[in-house]
Amino acid sequence: MPQISGGCLCGRIRYESAAAPVMVALCHCTHCQKQSGGAFSVNVAMPKGSLAFTGGPTAVYEDTGTSGLPVHRHFCAACGSPIYSDVEASPQLDWLKAGTLDDTSWVRPSVNIWCRSAQPWVAFPEGTPRFEQNPPG
Ligand SMILES: [Zn+2]
Ligand SMILES: [Zn+2]
Repeated sequence: MPQISGGCLCGRIRYESAAAPVMVALCHCTHCQKQSGGAFSVNVAMPKGSLAFTGGPTAVYEDTGTSGLPVHRHFCAACGSPIYSDVEASPQLDWLKAGTLDDTSWVRPSVNIWCRSAQPWVAFPEGTPRFEQNPPG
């Protein structure tokens, strides 16, 4: 099981978890593109509440998902690094931004979501399912 620890670019916000990651979702939605400044976000799904933070509180941007439910996008107010999203449509999970992990060597995408807004040059990882929007269910 990977060691889950990490933090933001400036180091003010740090986190740890003893829980096992549930999946790794590449999200190609336009909001993740805006927030990350990249083509997609790499999100490690962690059991809700399993992350312990130090150096907080994080700043939060209250976004709205296509479900109509809030998406609380947590970031570091000092350096701006996105850290995790608390998505009310997925109440069992917190979505950690994989780039904030201390060790990313184990991270492998398991699913691609919101592929309908993927940038046209993106190559999807071989063998990973693609969904036009959120996966059914
Ligand atoms: Zn920071
Ligand atoms: Zn997204």
